[in-house]
Amino acid sequence: MPRDNFNQPTKTEISLRAAHFCSNPRCLRLTAGPRSSVLRGLATGDAAHICAASPGGPRFDADQSEAERRSAANGLWLCRECGDMVDKDDSGYSADELRAWKQDHEAMIAEVRQRGWSRSIELLRSGQNSPGLAREIVALMEDRRAFWARFDAEFPDRVRMSLDGLRHELTRLRRDCAPGSPLDIVIVALAQTIRRFFDAVEKFDLTTLRCDSRNPNWLAFESTLRALRKSVGFQIKAFADSHSIPLQGEFASYLPEGAN
Ligand SMILES: [Zn+2]
Repeated sequence: MPRDNFNQPTKTEISLRAAHFCSNPRCLRLTAGPRSSVLRGLATGDAAHICAASPGGPRFDADQSEAERRSAANGLWLCRECGDMVDKDDSGYSADELRAWKQDHEAMIAEVRQRGWSRSIELLRSGQNSPGLAREIVALMEDRRAFWARFDAEFPDRVRMSLDGLRHELTRLRRDCAPGSPLDIVIVALAQTIRRFFDAVEKFDLTTLRCDSRNPNWLAFESTLRALRKSVGFQIKAFADSHSIPLQGEFASYLPEGAN
């Protein structure tokens, strides 16, 4: 039986949706860039199949049609290493897990794109910054254990209180920043990310919502929180890197590696 491979236009769509970053949340490597020759670009990523292209491959789904198997919906953009890893038969990655990677990654890219966050990082690197304040922002994130630790997500109200406190602290720090300065822009971007999370979950009663995989409200809350963590993690990691601030302990383990 032939392999239902992606054609080139489909691969292009998949790579664009991921903005050429590896979609593995622990990797996020950028898979495109310049070569030493001024005329050529370098590509180090590929579209991986969520469900395999042919029988016997990882996560093969006999119920899929050939068209479904070849469609962009069945593809995930990964760097070479991560592509090799998930393509091993015994990799242990389920189709649902890979779909969650893809969904979270695309949500994050949409957010970064919409909010011009990449511009704020450029500004940060332009050299005008205050190290004391930058360290304070990172320390603030490290303190919010309820936000990062997996266990506490089972108590949505605790997450809400933690984020609410974080918002107030960010507002306080903002008073020490010149309006429109690089640090100000970063704080505003973080505050907006958190506000959008609140907008998305305000329809749920967080005081009574509990971990229950059959409850659609819980699933929606969990997926919104995952997207928030990833977006904030990505911003803070790049922010800390650009200020050469080492990240500490448990907090660091929730951040994407190689996000720069
Ligand atoms: Zn990767």
